[in-house]
Amino acid sequence: TAKENGSSQYQFYDSVRDQSSLEQMILEDDLEAAVDNDQLRLVYQPKIDIRTGDVIGFEALVRWHHPILGVVQPLKFIPLAEKTGIIVPIEHWVLRNACLQVKKWQEEGIPAVPVAVNISQIHLMQPDIFENIISLITELELDASLLELEITESAMMHKEDHVIEILEKLKQAGISVSMDDFGTGYSSLSYLQSLPICCLKIDRSFIRKITTDTDSRAIAEMIISMARQLGLTIVAEGVETKEQVALLRELQCYNVQGFYYSKPVSAEEAILDRGVWTA
Ligand code: C2E
Ligand code: MG
Ligand code: MG
Ligand code: MG
Repeated sequence: TAKENGSSQYQFYDSVRDQSSLEQMILEDDLEAAVDNDQLRLVYQPKIDIRTGDVIGFEALVRWHHPILGVVQPLKFIPLAEKTGIIVPIEHWVLRNACLQVKKWQEEGIPAVPVAVNISQIHLMQPDIFENIISLITELELDASLLELEITESAMMHKEDHVIEILEKLKQAGISVSMDDFGTGYSSLSYLQSLPICCLKIDRSFIRKITTDTDSRAIAEMIISMARQLGLTIVAEGVETKEQVALLRELQCYNVQGFYYSKPVSAEEAILDRGVWTA
């Protein structure tokens, strides 16, 4: 009957909700020990210049190998980590390990390209963030130009004076910063102009619809031409099809990242195909 259906449906949704909140509770309990217990791993996604097919850099993305739940994706634990502040030790781990990986590639004679690390708003607000990053690259004797940082548009919009000061110092130290997920925040043109950044990454939500939705295409086109005016590099995120590559080429956006070329992969797999990627 309708009533029975209704109640069993209710039970179904309820158990799904319980399950996911149970999972969240497990994650929350275990996250603090994840760094100490060596459960974090990095995967690397290449950034490609579509004109040449060259890998121009990598983005390091964190994964949590949970002993019971298996591989946990960042969207499941990064928000939690930000809420509890554990994001700071997590990102210290990410920074150190990404830098160690670049060093290793360099020592193996693999032509060096920069690796980008994501920095959360909480971490950006730490008073010692600049000193920590500098002491890390000094300790590892890493060329500063091989480390890049990605900060989301929304994270850059809190405490603007503080953000500008940190970015200014990073720039002077030779560390480039990209604005991530651009188009999803609401930063003003004048703020954008005042920020010492080198690059805008157009958010995947626009790229996904770029060949099918005229509004998304218009927005992408506007972002690309604005970035050009401001002297910023542009990277298109989430490129999945050859039609998207062709359109981006037409719009003169030559740097892309996305499943069309490669998913994020292990450090070992990342260097296997460092040659030319054909589109
Ligand atoms: P993000 O920085 O914008 O990274 C790009 C995300 O898009 C990655 O998801 C990547 O796997 C995904 N992606 C790349 N190309 C494609 C594509 O063609 N199609 C689709 N559907 N997706 C694509 P991932 O690795 O799940 O990371 C999600 C987000 O988690 C990242 O977005 C970043 O904001 C955050 N994250 C990852 N690692 C860290 C970290 O160490 N610190 C912080 N604060 N955030 C991190
Ligand atoms: Mg990113
Ligand atoms: Mg992004
Ligand atoms: Mg994104």
